[in-house]
Formats: sequence, C-alpha cells, structure tokens
Amino acid sequence: MKIVDSVAGLNEALDIVRKSGKTIGFVPTMGALHEGHMALIERAVKATDFVVASIFVNPTQFTNASDLELYPRTPEKDAALLQQHGCDLAFFPTAPEMYSSDYVPPVVPLGSLESVMEGEFRPGHFKGVVQVVYRFFDLIRPDFAFFGLKDVQQVAVIKHMVSYLNMKVNIVACPTLRESSGLAMSSRNARLSAEEKEIAVHISRTLTHARELAKMKSPAEVKADAEQFFSSSPMRLEYFRVVDPATLTDLSDRWVPGAVACIAGYCGDVRLIDNMTLN
Ligand code: AMP
Repeated sequence: MKIVDSVAGLNEALDIVRKSGKTIGFVPTMGALHEGHMALIERAVKATDFVVASIFVNPTQFTNASDLELYPRTPEKDAALLQQHGCDLAFFPTAPEMYSSDYVPPVVPLGSLESVMEGEFRPGHFKGVVQVVYRFFDLIRPDFAFFGLKDVQQVAVIKHMVSYLNMKVNIVACPTLRESSGLAMSSRNARLSAEEKEIAVHISRTLTHARELAKMKSPAEVKADAEQFFSSSPMRLEYFRVVDPATLTDLSDRWVPGAVACIAGYCGDVRLIDNMTLN
C-alpha cells in the first residue's frame, strides 16, 4: 500500500491507475479506524480494481471545537489496518492541502436534508460534509464510493449532491457493523469508558425496541414509546425520529417501506448516533 499526504502525490499515483483502465473505489474516513470502516474497505476491494482510502478529520464539518479537538487520532494503526485489508492507496492530507486558497466549493442546496436531525443539532455540518466529499471526488474521480448507513443522513446528502451536480461516481451504501452487544461501532466509542460502553448499548436497544413496536403501532406512537424507553438510561437524548428513508421527513400516522428510526444522544460528553430500518 502506498501512503501519500499531498495532492501531487495522489495525482502521481492515480495517473498510473487511470492509464491502466482500472476502476477506482474510494472510502472516505476520519480515521481511528475500526471494523465498520474495514467492512467498507473489504466491499471496495471486492467491487473495484484499486482502492483509495482517505484519513482526514475535516474541520469544516465540526460544529463544536472540543469535539474536533478530542476526536481520536491513530494514524499508524490506521495505516496498518488499511494495508492488512487490501487498500492500495492511503491519502492522509492536511487541511491546507485540501482547502488551498484558490479552492471554491460548489453550492449544493440541501433543502430539508440539512435542517432535520443531524442538520438541526449540528448547523453547518452537512455543508462541511459536501465540501470535503466533493473535494475528494474531484481529486480522486472514483468510479464507486463507499459510505456507511450508520450515517444514514450523510448517505442521503451525498446521493443528493451526486445527482444535483451530475457526478459520475456510484454511491454504495453499506450496512452498520455492531459490537456483539449491539452498540454500533464508531470512532467515538474509543472515548467511552467500559462502564459507559455498557450504558451506550441502550441506544441500539431503543432502536430494536422501536422495531418491535413498529409491528403494531403508528410511527408517532413508536416515537413516543421509544423516547419513554430511552429515558430509563442516564444518557441524554438529543433526538429520536421515525422518518421516510428518501426524504428524512417525520412519519406520523402512516408507515412507508424502509421507514428508519434515527437517534442521537450523549453518553457522558460523547455524542453518539445510530439508526435502524423498522420495516
Ligand atoms: P467516519 O470515519 O466516522 O467519518 O466514517 C467513515 C465511513 O465509515 C462513513 O461512511 C461511515 O458511515 C462509515 N462507518 C462508520 N461506522 C460504521 C459502522 N459501524 N458500520 C459501517 N460503516 C461505518
């Protein structure tokens, strides 16, 4: 596996790949890699000829300075994991390299996609996501890009961006990997103590509880009941929503196929999100 930290190094490596006609798969990450990320790499290795992974803690998508500062960073371990799982090129750019002064990001109107759920509680977050992912797509020009459904709203935003800008890349959405306890794998879990990790399992339990309730109750009733269920834990709930998978708007009386329950909450001072398809 080759490791590059500059756009020049990236271009040099990719020129050779493009000339050979190989397909390029891309997995963007913020590092502190875990098995969930590795599932994306493995999927990319199976589906494409040459796999590029980026490790970049993108400052423009953080709305909280201490969250950015405390975000776990494990570059050596990340490089070793990527190599073990068959990644061909690891890109570790710096912020100035990503956002040179002459770089102008495109404007992509996101409508309600950026005002609900994560967008509501992290204003500006999805503008930062669009900015960084567009920049990566522009530099790497992948045939396929792999994203986790753990960040279901991010997948919707990226699909919207690709369609709005008529980009050639195919977006592949991959299922969420969980610990045996049910806790969704996340880089932020590294900031939890063993005790907090046990408490945090209540997030996925709330979602599985909601999935059971969905068999006999309306979306609004599921939401009310799941919020009540969650309140027995010491965590602070930020939101619980039952939404349409395409528009991410709230469901109330009627179910639609693929309805998703989305949750965000704080375990101590660590913000965790998760979601589950209910039907
Ligand atoms: P991050 O490093 O958190 O920005 O995540 C990079 C990519 O990995 C995103 O597409 C995430 O949705 C995905 N991802 C994170 N956690 C998981 C997980 N537990 N299972 C599957 N994909 C994940």
